Amino acid sequence: MGGAAANPQPPDDSPGFDARPRRVRVLLPLPLGEAYDYLAPPETALAPGALVEVPLGSRRVAGAVWDAEPEDSRVPAHKLKAVLRVCDAPPLPRPVRQFVDWVARYYLAEPGAVLKMALPVPAALDPPAPRLAYRRIQTPEHLPVRLTAARKRVLDVLADGLARPVTELAKEAAVSSAVVRGLADAGALEQVPIHPGAPGALPEALPEGPPLSESQGAAADALVDRVRADAFSVTLLDGVTGSGKTEVYFQAVKEALAQGRQVLVLLPEIALSAQWLERFERRFGVEPAQWHSELTQAQRRDTWRAVARGEARVVVGARSALFLPYPALGLVVVDEEHEPAFKQEDGVPYHARDMAVVRARLGGIACVLTSATPSLESIENVRAGRYDSVRLPERHAGAALPEVAPIDMRKDRPTPIEGHGTSYIAPSLRDAVAETLAAGEQAMLFLNRRGYAPLVLCRSCGHRLQCPHCTAWLVEHRLIHRLQCHHCGFVTHPPDTCPECEAADSLAACGPGVERLTEEVRALFPDARTALMASDTVTGPDSAARFVESVRRGEVDLLIGTQIVAKGHHFPGLTLVGVVDADLGLAGGDLRAGERTYQLLHQVAGRAGRAEKPGRVLLQTYGPEHPVIEALVSGERDSFLAVEAENRKLAEMPPFTRLVALIVSSPEEDQADAVTRGLARTAPEREGVEVLGPAPAPMAVLRGRHRRRLLLKTRRDQAPQPLLRAWLARVAVPNKVRLYVDVDPYGFL
Ligand code: ADP
Ligand code: ZN
Repeated sequence: MGGAAANPQPPDDSPGFDARPRRVRVLLPLPLGEAYDYLAPPETALAPGALVEVPLGSRRVAGAVWDAEPEDSRVPAHKLKAVLRVCDAPPLPRPVRQFVDWVARYYLAEPGAVLKMALPVPAALDPPAPRLAYRRIQTPEHLPVRLTAARKRVLDVLADGLARPVTELAKEAAVSSAVVRGLADAGALEQVPIHPGAPGALPEALPEGPPLSESQGAAADALVDRVRADAFSVTLLDGVTGSGKTEVYFQAVKEALAQGRQVLVLLPEIALSAQWLERFERRFGVEPAQWHSELTQAQRRDTWRAVARGEARVVVGARSALFLPYPALGLVVVDEEHEPAFKQEDGVPYHARDMAVVRARLGGIACVLTSATPSLESIENVRAGRYDSVRLPERHAGAALPEVAPIDMRKDRPTPIEGHGTSYIAPSLRDAVAETLAAGEQAMLFLNRRGYAPLVLCRSCGHRLQCPHCTAWLVEHRLIHRLQCHHCGFVTHPPDTCPECEAADSLAACGPGVERLTEEVRALFPDARTALMASDTVTGPDSAARFVESVRRGEVDLLIGTQIVAKGHHFPGLTLVGVVDADLGLAGGDLRAGERTYQLLHQVAGRAGRAEKPGRVLLQTYGPEHPVIEALVSGERDSFLAVEAENRKLAEMPPFTRLVALIVSSPEEDQADAVTRGLARTAPEREGVEVLGPAPAPMAVLRGRHRRRLLLKTRRDQAPQPLLRAWLARVAVPNKVRLYVDVDPYGFL
């Protein structure tokens, strides 16, 4: 597949062809609404998917020829502008076009805004300028210019006959690039174009993986069968952490590759997935192509082209990798399918796990979702027979699952530390850490809160420091001496006096963040080597990889971290995990609070005892009888999920109903209120449809905008989109007011 640009069709193939220039619809990657009509040059019949450049006002914009629509409402031909040229990129395959339309319809987004995700790098639509390299054509003896030491070094480097780009050559020969150019000008070197290999290409032969256990083998066979079936299917690969899910789905990856297809693996946080990449390389002997926000423009261009040309065979990426123009996709894997990171919350808000399933359906291919703690959505889809499921019940090679126990903070109270103050670590957890360290093993303390303290309060008047732009407290970050809003990024210096009562030295940090916990741990265990891992202390894939490596090498005894330590890392020496505040995620009105806390803590717990030594997990809680804590302790996931499902059903909440959140926001509070009232007045009324609200959104003010929220709830068998379209068309939204439509919302801020 792949093929040349713009599939020309012989004219006698198309009914109704005449000599007049033909119109084509062109969808532009801009939030402009629908596709526009243009005239195709008479000699080039442009098939849907062709990538073309067209005039738009005074600009030239590249877009895609879109599938034709009914003939009405069309501008007369003499008013149309002509397509300027056809780009040198393969046409967008049909499933990709259908996917763009599908996503736009489902999420009520502009098709052009969705197309932008499929065409994110305009430069990729044309071949890159060839990279030039220098090769030697004269030996030192026949040099037309004087042989200086520098020139000789260049010629020596090139003695192997290989061509090198100028910067590389200059570096290797330790000369300036002027020396290289001088030699070229003198005729001693010639310039040749070089073609770097496509990202994500494959070796000649696919290596065999490790021998699989019996249950792994059965699971792998099931997935391989789905790939061979060459039809749409969704399979949930459900197995405890360390059971070998990755090893198992690698077999399905191999099968798809052996069939000449492309494979997409979505990871929740590609920037933190150094270990995954390393494993893939060890298994397949090549690096996969990567797609995520940290790539340079040139990498994005090369990767997009390699995917479009079918040369990139394996792509591993963040959610946006779903929109790449795969001509031969044969398998989509969503690793850690329950992860909230798959939901995009800005731009076009979409859920990449759900859209991976849609993409697989449109392509008629297999989709595999993996998790140790599947989402209730996926569990329900399995129960209803929409998805298949394959289970891996045990850890690989007999590694035991960690033993989980609660610490009841009402009885086992932390005592203040001499000369240090408040403590957040109960005596029994402190003892467990001490034992672990004494045994020469590693321990980890988990607290999902960045910074030093989540709140700063005046001891004399009670004033709390709040973000000037949001309904949120400012979080103290002591390492950088700043107060930060975690919602809008507002940053300020900690004041010396209370801004309200002007008392001096009265501001006190309330509650723990990981920085404060680190301070406490250092006071308790002065001899231990401690390290803090949070998204603001370990930034980017490289520093994450270095950090993880140093933990693995045993250079750290005691690790303190937020949720980024929970993500898929394998620390063989780690035998104790202490969860400092297991109740943290359970407060608040989020529909999925219980489910998510369970997933996160289960994943954190899974870091312990992944190698020979057994692991232990301690959960500090004020509510050991809470179903989430009980399920973590007993390991009875399925009964917990059954109760969760029952509660959702009773409350008529997803996955048993459908929700759409409407967030109205405006710098002017009364405008936000007026629009919200208008929406409430015209809300659809019919059987099976309910509108909840309006209410101030939990973040009543965010980035200086006042926010109101409505929730539309429909029965599962009732699509909310047509209702929404009709509803929103009835309400006028003034310029300054923004209406954010979030279909299947996950965040409830
Ligand atoms: P999961 O994805 O379910 O957490 P992994 O696939 O990461 O599990 O496997 C856990 C560990 O066990 C990894 O280090 C992996 O290399 C190893 N492993 C799993 N299955 C096998 C196997 N069949 N042979 C050798 N090592 C295996
Ligand atoms: Zn703020």
